[in-house]
Amino acid sequence: MTLQGPWVKICLWEEVTVSMIVKLDRDECIGCGVCAQICPEVFELDEDAGKAKVIRSEGAECAKEAADSCPVGCITVEE
Ligand code: SF4
Repeated sequence: MTLQGPWVKICLWEEVTVSMIVKLDRDECIGCGVCAQICPEVFELDEDAGKAKVIRSEGAECAKEAADSCPVGCITVEE
């Protein structure tokens, strides 16, 4: 069976997003909000706690960019 181009692209994209796990060490977080600005699909700033939190631990390529931009390096993205 031959799979056509666009269908294959969609399936590969879903496979990548589902297999990505995002973790945040809240003890280390300084609440700068950079991650929530870069990737609001995954991170949210909990203003009461003064720390970020993960609102969706799967998916979103921007989570990697947020992890790279975190000033204290408390975000990890596992694939
Ligand atoms: S970028 Fe890092 S330090 Fe800043 S709010 Fe997000 S997790 Fe916390």
